[in-house]
Amino acid sequence: MDTNNKAANQKLPLQGAGGRRLAILGAGESGVGAAYLAKQQGYDVFVSDFGAIADNYKQQLLDWEIRFEEKQHTEAEILSAVEVIKSPGIPDKAPIIKKLKEKDIPVISEIEFAGRYTDAKIVGITGSNGKTTTTSLTYHILKNAGINVGLAGNIGKSFAYQVATEKYDVYALELSSFMLDDMYKFKVDIAVLLNITPDHLDRYEYKMENYVASKFRIAQNQTAADYFIYCIDDPETANGVAARNFSAKMLPFSIEKPVEEGAYLNEETLIININNDQLTMSIHELALQGKHNIYNSMASGIVAKVLQIRNKTISDSMADFQNIEHRLESVGKISGISFINDSKATNVNSTWYALESMTSDVVLILGGVDKGNNYDMLRDLVRQKVKAIVCLGLDNTRIHEAFKDDVDIIVDTTSAQDAVQTSYYLATKGDTVLLSPACASFDLFKNYEDRGRQFKQAVKEL
Ligand code: ADP
Repeated sequence: MDTNNKAANQKLPLQGAGGRRLAILGAGESGVGAAYLAKQQGYDVFVSDFGAIADNYKQQLLDWEIRFEEKQHTEAEILSAVEVIKSPGIPDKAPIIKKLKEKDIPVISEIEFAGRYTDAKIVGITGSNGKTTTTSLTYHILKNAGINVGLAGNIGKSFAYQVATEKYDVYALELSSFMLDDMYKFKVDIAVLLNITPDHLDRYEYKMENYVASKFRIAQNQTAADYFIYCIDDPETANGVAARNFSAKMLPFSIEKPVEEGAYLNEETLIININNDQLTMSIHELALQGKHNIYNSMASGIVAKVLQIRNKTISDSMADFQNIEHRLESVGKISGISFINDSKATNVNSTWYALESMTSDVVLILGGVDKGNNYDMLRDLVRQKVKAIVCLGLDNTRIHEAFKDDVDIIVDTTSAQDAVQTSYYLATKGDTVLLSPACASFDLFKNYEDRGRQFKQAVKEL
């Protein structure tokens, strides 16, 4: 396959990196994986983390004899590097990044780096919401089709580590905007852009256009041999597509109107049409239910059709996919009340989709660290479906203010157990208790996984 990744690869010295210094900032999954690959390629690797490094990663670096430091950045080591790989969590305004930029030392992402050492076909998936779900579903279909496929990006083992240790023909890669920001030559062969709604704006000078531009970086370097799959119903995405030039073949998906090539709905039938070859499937057969998941299934289905996977394999895989933890995950029924864990809903948009997919009355568990949320878009659905809101956060003032005229009961809780018991008390047979907080979790929990697990545990204990 003739990709830019391969082209970049050819620029490397034949004898490996010849001991040239490569600095890696951030020793999490991506940094430690990049360190392994860089060492394998003959670089003199130095890993630096301004915070504490988790024990398991420290042990890996020790095992692989890679030099590292924590709780500091030693500038002499970092500013002498020929290139620096930055963890997506480090903002450009961090002093060390500013210094690197002043000295014109290239700063790249782990994905950019690892892309130089593989000529696997890349399916790259981005969007404000639905990345993990769509990447996992895509991987599931491809794997069922017998393709030698890897799953990476923000999921599981880092891309770099897998490039160093595996030999996959295709990767399903989840790409966040922070990763895309530090990608330059990397080419995505099949790109998916799910949606663009405000998120992380603190990293984009509070300018939506900067965040939008970051998402569209997924199409940079694409050629006429590549594909760009996107949701034409999403206004930011549709406007962004209209305002830019693309080399790739464009494949939109929509649930609002038919499209010529791509995916759309005819009443309750999902239709994917690529090269006059059609796949049809009832939306009731999809494993992932809810409007947002029709979009995710359409995107994955288009990728699969582009890769010429048989219709039956695609529809069987879209029907038997097991949803991942913390995303509209059904936790079970107690006294006729259903409990759903959607702890991963850390912004208002994903909570909107969760509520939209509810078919019963809902007791909604909402709250946590509010990232400057605007709750207006939830109002109609809250009025229609929510009988009580149980706040689960240290400061719930904004939720009370937002919904005081829409819901009769709004109560405060500060633990998962308390929230579950209160919700159980407020719900009646046939209702759903939905944890879909629209907020980050770190006021009361370690992360969204911790919040989701504590929720599930509390349900078990009822
Ligand atoms: P990401 O990896 O982009 O954060 P996930 O697949 O983990 O996305 O889903 C995060 C949350 O967003 C979940 O709560 C889910 O219900 C919701 N969600 C999933 N897909 C979509 C979509 N296409 N549009 C809007 N919300 C979605």
